[in-house]
Amino acid sequence: MPRRRMARRMIPSHARVVIIGGGIMGCSTAYHLAKNGWKDVVVLEQGRLTGGTTWHAAGLVGQLRGYQNLTRLIQYSTRLYAGLEAETGLATGWKQCGSISVARTPERMTYLRRSAATANKQGVACEELTPRQAGDKYPIMRTDDLVGAVWLPGDGKANPADITQALAKGARTNGVRIFEKTRVTSIDTRDGRVAGVQTTEGSIKADVVVNCAGQWARQVGRMVGVTVPLYSCEHMYIVTEKIEGVPRDLPVMRDPDGYIYFKEEVGGLLMGGFEPQAKPWNKDVIPDDFEFGMLPDDWDQFQILMDNALIRVPALEKAGIKTFMNGPESFTPDLSYILGEAPGLKGFFVGAGFNSMGIASSGGAGMALAEWIVAGEPTLDLWPVDIRRFAGFHGNDAWLRDRVAETLGLHYRMPWPQREHESGRPFRRSPLYDRLMARGAWFGNKMGWDRPNWFAGLGKTPDMQYGWGRGAWFDAVAGEHKATREAVTVADETSFGKFLMQGRDAESSLQHLCTNDIAVPVGRTVYTGLLNERGTYESDLTVARLAADKFLIITGSAQVTRDADWIGRNLPQGAHATMTDVTGAWSVLSVMGPRSRTLLQKVSKADFSNEAFPFATIREIDVGYATVLASRRTYMGELGWELYVPAEFAVTVFEALHGAGGDVGLRDMGYYAIEGLRLEKAYRAWGRELTPDDTPWHAGLGWAVKLDKPGGFLGRQALIEARARPLARRLVSVVLEDSEPLLWGGETLLRDGRPVGDLTSAAYGHTVGAAVGLAYAQREDGQAIDAGWLQSGRFEVDLAGARLKARVGLRAPYDPAGARIKG
Ligand SMILES: Cc1cc2nc3c(=O)[nH]c(=O)nc-3n(C[C@H](O)[C@H](O)[C@H](O)COP(=O)(O)OP(=O)(O)OC[C@H]3O[C@@H](n4cnc5c(N)ncnc54)[C@H](O)[C@@H]3O)c2cc1C
Repeated sequence: MPRRRMARRMIPSHARVVIIGGGIMGCSTAYHLAKNGWKDVVVLEQGRLTGGTTWHAAGLVGQLRGYQNLTRLIQYSTRLYAGLEAETGLATGWKQCGSISVARTPERMTYLRRSAATANKQGVACEELTPRQAGDKYPIMRTDDLVGAVWLPGDGKANPADITQALAKGARTNGVRIFEKTRVTSIDTRDGRVAGVQTTEGSIKADVVVNCAGQWARQVGRMVGVTVPLYSCEHMYIVTEKIEGVPRDLPVMRDPDGYIYFKEEVGGLLMGGFEPQAKPWNKDVIPDDFEFGMLPDDWDQFQILMDNALIRVPALEKAGIKTFMNGPESFTPDLSYILGEAPGLKGFFVGAGFNSMGIASSGGAGMALAEWIVAGEPTLDLWPVDIRRFAGFHGNDAWLRDRVAETLGLHYRMPWPQREHESGRPFRRSPLYDRLMARGAWFGNKMGWDRPNWFAGLGKTPDMQYGWGRGAWFDAVAGEHKATREAVTVADETSFGKFLMQGRDAESSLQHLCTNDIAVPVGRTVYTGLLNERGTYESDLTVARLAADKFLIITGSAQVTRDADWIGRNLPQGAHATMTDVTGAWSVLSVMGPRSRTLLQKVSKADFSNEAFPFATIREIDVGYATVLASRRTYMGELGWELYVPAEFAVTVFEALHGAGGDVGLRDMGYYAIEGLRLEKAYRAWGRELTPDDTPWHAGLGWAVKLDKPGGFLGRQALIEARARPLARRLVSVVLEDSEPLLWGGETLLRDGRPVGDLTSAAYGHTVGAAVGLAYAQREDGQAIDAGWLQSGRFEVDLAGARLKARVGLRAPYDPAGARIKG
C-alpha cells in the first residue's frame, strides 16, 4: 500500500547522544537513557523502525544463560516486556508460556540437570521432567525416544516489532526524538573522542554516539576504525497453518539434539533451528536498502531441521506451510553479543551482534548499555559481552565468515566442558606451533592464539573425545602435572599479553593505576591489581621494572585490548608515558618444577641460585645462542622461571631446553595441567575469580594492596570503605572428598543444603587426588565469612543434581611450603 508522504521533521544540530539504528536494541537503549534522565537523545534509523532484523524474529525469550549477570539481564527483559503495555498503551504480545527443553541422550540430560542447578541458584525457576511429564505439557510431542526434559515456567514469547514500537513510544514520551529515513553516512571525531555524525539529512554534533546498527554495525564501526566483529548468517523458520491440539498457551519447546525449536503461532507452529553448519550470508557489505528484506527459501539448508521436526512433532507431516522465513542475522565469533565503549575512541558505544537472541537480550542489554553510558563504565561485570574481549584482527571478513558458519550451530550443539571452536583455526600461532604439533599437542584457542592444552607425546595424534568424564587427556595431563611437581616441564605461554610502558612518568603513572607498590628497584617484578573507582578489579597483572623509565607489563592472553584501553584511559593527564603492545614480539616459555634450576643451569651460564636470582626478579640471561629475559615467578606453585624470548629465538630456546632436558625428566605441559596446578595453589584468574564485581578483600588478595603507598591509587578510597564492612562474600577453595568425579566450573556450592555460591573455576588436582576449585561463598545474614563459619558448615557441590561432599577453606588445597617456590 502506498505510504502517505509526511512532512519531514528536521534533525537537530546537536544532541547529547545519537543512537544509530531503530531496531529493538537502539530503541531499548534510548528508552533506558531517558529513564536515567538523559533526555537529549536522538535515534536515527536509515529505514523504518524494526525494518532491519527485528521485524522477523521468532520472538522466543529464554532466560537462562551460562553467566549469571547475563541471565539477570534477560530476567529484567521479561519484567520489562511484561509491564510495557501498561506503561505505553501498546500491546507487546508478551506471554509467559514457559519453555521445555528435551534431551535425547543421557549426556544432554546431564547438561540439562547442570543447567537446572544453575537456574535455581540464579533465581530462575527450573524443574526436571520425565518424558511423560514433558508430554503432558506438550501433548503433540513424541516422547518415547527422550531421556528427560526441563521446564522453565518463567520463559515466554513476544512480538518483536510490537515490543520495539512500545519501547520507542516509552522513549519518545520521555523526550527522545526518533528520525526514520535518516542514514548515518560518517562519524566525526576530535582528539580521540566522537564529535557527531553526518547523515543524509544533515549533521548532528554529539557527545556520545551509539552503534546499534544490527548486522550493519560492522560497517558503521569501520567508519571510525572500530572493530565490531560480526557477520550475517541466513537464519530460517517456517510457520504452519493451524494444527489440531495446538492451544494458544502452548509452551515454547526446544529439542537441541535435533537442532530445533517450536513456538505456537496463531494456532499453528513456528518451527526453526540452529543447524550445525550454517550458511553465511555472503555479503562483506550489507546493502543500505535491505529494509524489511527476506532471503530466498532454501529447503536444502532447512532439510536437517525439517527432518528432526518431523521426528519430534509428527503432526507436522500433514500441516500446511504458511510462511518460509529466511532472514539474515548477525553472529559473533563466540556467540555472545558485543557491548560497551569502543577501545580507543571515547564516547563511541556499541550494542550489536545478538546471535539470534536480540529479542530476549535487548531489554536488559539496552538497560546495561544506558547505565554504562551514564556512569562512564559498566555497572556490573559484563566481561563475556564486553567489546574489549576482541582485537582488531577479529574484524577480518574471511575469518569471520568461516567462524560464524560454526557459531550459529553452537546454540544447540552439545556444550561439552572442554569444547573448542573448530573453524577459523589456526588463527594466531606461536613460532613453536609446528614443533608442539609434532609432540602431539591438542590445541585450544584463546584470544585467537592456538595453544596446547595437553600433549599425547612425540609423534602421537591426540585422541580428544569430549565428555563429562575422563578421556585420554586425563592421564596425559596427570603426567604433565606430576612432572611439574616432581621434575620439570616447559609450557609455551606465548599468548601472554605484553606491554612496554616507557617515559619519565612511567613509574608515577603505574603507581596511580596499581594497588601494589611498583616503585621497586630495576630488576624486580610485582604482582598487582588494577581497580576502578568502585575498588573492584579491572585487571590483574605483573609489572617488571627493566629500567628507571621502562616497565614490562605481563597480562593474561584475553586481557590485552581491555588492559590497553583501561590503562590508556586512566593515565594521569599530561603524563609523559607511552604504552606499546609487544605481545607478538616475544614468545614465553615457562620452565617450572623443582628441577627447573638444574635444567636452566645446563643451558645457560647465568647463576640461578637463590641468592643470585631470588623470587620476583627479572634479568637478561643467555640460553644457548639466544639472549632472553628470565623472570623468576610461578603460576603453578613450583620453583620456576618464565623466559621472555624474542620471537625469532623461540625455536632456538625450545630446542636448547629439550636438548638438555632428557636427564632431568623434562616434559611438555599444556593449559589443562596449568589449570589444575594453579587451582591446587588457589591462584586466581582474571575474568573468573577477579572481575569488576570483586574487590581484593573478597578475592583474598589484600597482600597485593598497599593502602599506604605515597600518592595512593585508583580505587583506594572505595577499598578503605569496603574494609569497614564485614566480608560476607569471600573466595574459598573447594576440594571434593570423592576422588572420582570431575568438576568443570559453574557448579553450585551448598552449605548445609542451601546454595551459597558457584564454582568460578574447577579442574582435577592430581597432587591432592580430587577435583579442586574456587568459589565465591556468600553469607545470607551479612556476617563475615571466617574459618569458624567454614568449619561449622557441611559443604557440598551440586554436580548435575548429585550432591558431593566437599572440603572448603580459605587456604590453598596444596601448600607444602612457600619455600618450595621461593627457596
Ligand atoms: C529468523 C530469525 C529469528 C529470530 N528469532 C529470535 C528469537 O526467537 N528470539 C530472539 O531473542 N531473537 C531472535 N532473532 C534475533 C533478533 O531478531 C535480533 O537479534 C534482533 O532483532 C537484533 O536487533 P538490533 O536492534 O540489534 O538490530 P536491527 O533490528 O537490525 O536494527 C538495526 C537497525 O540499524 C539500522 N541501521 C544500520 N545502519 C544504519 C545507518 N548507517 N544509519 C541509520 N540506521 C542504520 C538498520 O536499518 C536497522 O533497522 C531472530 C532473528 C532471525 C533472523
